[in-house]
Amino acid sequence: MNALRIEGLRVSFDHPLGVVRAVDDVSFALRPNERFGLVGESGSGKSTMALAIMRMIRPPGHIDGGDILLGDTNLSTLSGDAIRRTRLAGIAMVPQGSMNALNPVMRVGAQVADAMRDHGVQPRDIDQLMARVGLPAGTVEKYPHELSGGMKQRVCIAIAICLRPTVIIADEPTSALDVVVQRQVMRTLAVVQQDLNAAILLIGHDMGLMAQFVDRLGVMYAGRLVEIAPIAEIVRKPRHPYTEMLIASLPSMDHKDALRGIPGLAPLLRDLPSGCAFHPRCPKARDRCRAERPLPREIEGGVLAACHFA
Ligand code: SF4
Repeated sequence: MNALRIEGLRVSFDHPLGVVRAVDDVSFALRPNERFGLVGESGSGKSTMALAIMRMIRPPGHIDGGDILLGDTNLSTLSGDAIRRTRLAGIAMVPQGSMNALNPVMRVGAQVADAMRDHGVQPRDIDQLMARVGLPAGTVEKYPHELSGGMKQRVCIAIAICLRPTVIIADEPTSALDVVVQRQVMRTLAVVQQDLNAAILLIGHDMGLMAQFVDRLGVMYAGRLVEIAPIAEIVRKPRHPYTEMLIASLPSMDHKDALRGIPGLAPLLRDLPSGCAFHPRCPKARDRCRAERPLPREIEGGVLAACHFA
């Protein structure tokens, strides 16, 4: 059984100028113990999807349809109380900004204890939990402002794993950290994942980081999943032109020519281009692309792409 399966998830936001579909009919699954990455430009719907999976979308946003299956539990139909109990115990999130995620006037140990108590678990072994995420003895007594960015992110990881969830969503967990600390935090995440035998959904836009960390990668564009493939396969032979251009835009030690970006801008979600949403920026676009939306289809074992010509 999959650790997490998303089926046809749709999330919209009501806007005075119309409805904005931020996540549009997205499906994918995570196997137990798998590391699955999700990349895409800002506004592609990655973080909205993370919030939707956690059932944390707030008005004017709403989940319009689809299923979120954690094991055999459908999170999309759980009551408010039941989903609150499931967060941390079954599925947990390491947030993007650890600076804002922690309570500035509570000692960090008390914040971990609070999370446990809130789920009816007697707080215990918090020192060991802190040690497991690489924090020195005595950290439990510190306030967030006494910790570095990397240490705060480790506290967030400690909170996320305190009830041993089967799925961890890490939403750009290292975006505010320097590269050295970034690697250390990712190593910690890898260690705790092995320890718990949990699946990880890593959200970000750093293809280099993804290449080093994940087993499979999903690529999002304008709220839709346009490609899924094992990481080695996607780097070796990207099937969707957007993925190809994302990979080509990475700086290379071998080719020290000018950096290559992706021309044009991501489209407005409330006014998507017809057919394939990528067609105004796609060098391979043809007439069919402007008229017909490509749906994700299996190209070969384990490789899916939403492109008419992949
Ligand atoms: Fe490009 Fe057409 Fe494929 Fe879209 S469907 S990615 S426009 S070739």
